[in-house]
Amino acid sequence: MTMIGLEIHCQLTNLQSKLFCSCKANYREFQINENICPICMGLPGSLPRLNQEAVKKATMIAMALNCTTPEKIAFFRKNYFYPDLPKNFQITQLNIYGDTSIGGTGSIMIGDKKIRITRIQLEEDPGRLIYEGSSSKNQITLVDYNRAGTPLVEIVTEPDFETPKEVRDFLNVLSDLLANLGVADPSLEGAMRADANVSIEGGKKVEIKNIGSFHDLEKAVHFEITRQESLHSRDIEIAQETRHWDDKRKITVSSRSKEEDLDYRYFLEGDIPWVTIDTDIQNKLKSEMPESIISKKERYVSKYSIPVQVADVLSSDKFYSDLFEESHTESNAKEVANIITTELMGLVDTREKRESSKLTFRHLRELANAIQSGKISRNSSKNALHAILKTGKDLNDIITELDLGNVSDESELLEIVTSVISEESKAVDEAKSNPQTINYLVGKVMQKTKGKADPTLTLDLLKKQIGI
Ligand SMILES: [Zn+2]
Repeated sequence: MTMIGLEIHCQLTNLQSKLFCSCKANYREFQINENICPICMGLPGSLPRLNQEAVKKATMIAMALNCTTPEKIAFFRKNYFYPDLPKNFQITQLNIYGDTSIGGTGSIMIGDKKIRITRIQLEEDPGRLIYEGSSSKNQITLVDYNRAGTPLVEIVTEPDFETPKEVRDFLNVLSDLLANLGVADPSLEGAMRADANVSIEGGKKVEIKNIGSFHDLEKAVHFEITRQESLHSRDIEIAQETRHWDDKRKITVSSRSKEEDLDYRYFLEGDIPWVTIDTDIQNKLKSEMPESIISKKERYVSKYSIPVQVADVLSSDKFYSDLFEESHTESNAKEVANIITTELMGLVDTREKRESSKLTFRHLRELANAIQSGKISRNSSKNALHAILKTGKDLNDIITELDLGNVSDESELLEIVTSVISEESKAVDEAKSNPQTINYLVGKVMQKTKGKADPTLTLDLLKKQIGI
């Protein structure tokens, strides 16, 4: 049997400052080594001060994953030497004095499968190494400490996954859940990283480090299972080891023998007092948490009769569900959901496109109303949406400028209907004996009006003129 466990590192988002100092949490905005101070650089005499907002957000993650949440949490120093770690220790959490991490055991259902969470801890991110130079001769390594000290949440699971697909399904749900909570942004480069441990047939456990994205995590797990199965089939013993993921070659490579926790010489971080998160604080946090994806989906189905599959897609992405919440009314909810899931999602499928889009919730509301009132056809609404995203202009202006409005003026439409009837005498005769074939004539009117004829009015006029 294959057993896979994950350690997921997720950067907390929407925070003003790093975990223990007032440097900016949004380190991506800065020039190299510009976002640093004596605290995150670990200079002598500097003292860390805990970011309470980060504690709140991490606690929300623990609650959303149904983890136990201890009333008192502590921080520990994890000692190791590596160039990206200016202090030579990382401030993190550990459960050696009972449960003192931000989250204890929990679980989440992925379909019918229960994935158990071992613990959740709040810690600081190290700096970032930058490799430059193309060949091994002239390669140099630079270090950027802007990221050092930014808040990171580590989510550790039990080895409950049996296939790479289960890993992927879990990651999809987790990404959506974190984004919905507003605590993480999975679309940012490096915001989600992971380690995985994989063993097959009750064999030794191999840890894969350094997987830089969720996308690669599934690939790394898949590669590692295949590698171990190949060794196993040739009766070669699988060594317990740490391997790292080489994202250029898409393989795992042996890096060093497995370290025991003892190697890190953990000890209590004496510069940060224990933090109390009592029941009152926990209840207040619970009340501040946004509606979960699951209850959102159920509400969309029961309140607005949105089809389950559409509700599923709509509720799982915070960007779209926020847009839906703001733009829909009782009467146009289904139409708004339809525009978002069938048109908009294909047009703003990247972070850049979302950010550069000029669409507001008012646009979306007006567009849905215009379709419902027959002012614009569903077909023309696609062109209107395109133009809105690009220009941000008023829907009415766009309809006029691009001549997208439906032909709903009765006399104008009657003229077109009459000309179609005179051109299509055979089809008219057929419609008289078999009324269903009138759709052919409706199609002809649509053709002449480039799809802009009001369909109901067209049908009425045709029937009247033909006399059926
Ligand atoms: Zn700092």
